[in-house]
Amino acid sequence: MNKQTGDISETFRNKCREANLKITPQRMIIFESLVDDKGHPSADIVFQRVRKKIPNVSFDTINRTLLSFVDMGLLKVVEGYGRPKRFDPDTESHHHFQCTRCNKIIDFCDKALDAIEVPKDIKNRFTVTGKKVVVEGLCDSCRK
Ligand SMILES: [Zn+2]
Ligand SMILES: [Zn+2]
Repeated sequence: MNKQTGDISETFRNKCREANLKITPQRMIIFESLVDDKGHPSADIVFQRVRKKIPNVSFDTINRTLLSFVDMGLLKVVEGYGRPKRFDPDTESHHHFQCTRCNKIIDFCDKALDAIEVPKDIKNRFTVTGKKVVVEGLCDSCRK
């Protein structure tokens, strides 16, 4: 299901307003370059895309902007086990299958996994703000 460009800019504008972040055409282009991307792109992939529209943009600017989007709740970070961070425009609760060979990250939903209880000693020691299950293995193209 593709979101209409109008909806995207609407969500984006509201979030920026909430976070007191100035809405600039550059930030808009960066956001639009990954909002419909189910592939959990890295900052470098976003950089390659945005550079086609804004030739003089720096990697650092892209990286900083993506991290500020994460702070605003527009994106989530998918930790990459020492590999570059990957960004997820889907901020609803879901889980990931990660291919250990090609690093592909595939979304899936599962009610039973959503309902997993956090162990008591973890709850007592830390403030838990979220949980996710990562399933690892070989994706269908790597399995061949
Ligand atoms: Zn794979
Ligand atoms: Zn995801």
